Amino acid sequence: MRITVLGKSPSWQDAGGACSGYLVQEDGYTLLLDCGNGVFSKLRGHVDYVDVDAILISHLHADHFLDLVPFAYALTYAPRQQPVAVAGWPGTSDPACPELYAPLGAKEMFRQIVSCWGNEQLIEDAFSLHEYQAWDEVSLGPFQVRFCEVPHYTPTFAVELVTSGRRFTYSADCSPNQELVDFARDTDLLLIEATLPRPERTGERGHLTPSEAGDHGRRARAKRLVITHFSDELDPEWADQEATRAFGGPVGLAHDGAVYSV
Ligand SMILES: [Zn+2]
Repeated sequence: MRITVLGKSPSWQDAGGACSGYLVQEDGYTLLLDCGNGVFSKLRGHVDYVDVDAILISHLHADHFLDLVPFAYALTYAPRQQPVAVAGWPGTSDPACPELYAPLGAKEMFRQIVSCWGNEQLIEDAFSLHEYQAWDEVSLGPFQVRFCEVPHYTPTFAVELVTSGRRFTYSADCSPNQELVDFARDTDLLLIEATLPRPERTGERGHLTPSEAGDHGRRARAKRLVITHFSDELDPEWADQEATRAFGGPVGLAHDGAVYSV
């Protein structure tokens, strides 16, 4: 499978960047893993949005789903999606309607957000929406999908994609935990968040430092480790050194446009 980083920023975009979004492609099937703010624009630089087969949202934080809004507007209002000829497009009887998998409660949250200014069913009408729970196993094209709930501020799910005997594991956002280590055991590629310059000083923990991300990769015996979800305001050399030391081997640093083959 081919993984393209569309956005690796944390909850505020890097200069010219996008929040979480990863394009995963295999055998002509296109899956978008998370769709944070800025991702729809980046997506359009790589694939035609009507060719996205499915979108999978790891958790309902803005930086992981907010660009479902412009994506839904495109699917609803673009001339090429209309049943009659418009603006040079011939009209279609089969408009694109990608599958959308999001955690339980997503439909209600999407309605609340969109209803602030308009049609509350915008997202559920534009996509084929399914709500998932931790124990669900889903087949999406060539991918077998599993979830693992990880500790964060809201229900959050690490995601495993398997195809042709190859495994890709995505941490989503999480504080230090054993569940991810067990879930990612011996995976071919672990894409793991490394948001923090230092552990949170007060309150509930919700994210990892680069050193903690490296430590999770080492304990999981991941064959390859790539850290993501860090700001361009964090020194990448420092993050690399911290993660590499804890992992015990070379670590990749995600950047927008990076491609990984698994
Ligand atoms: Zn989050």
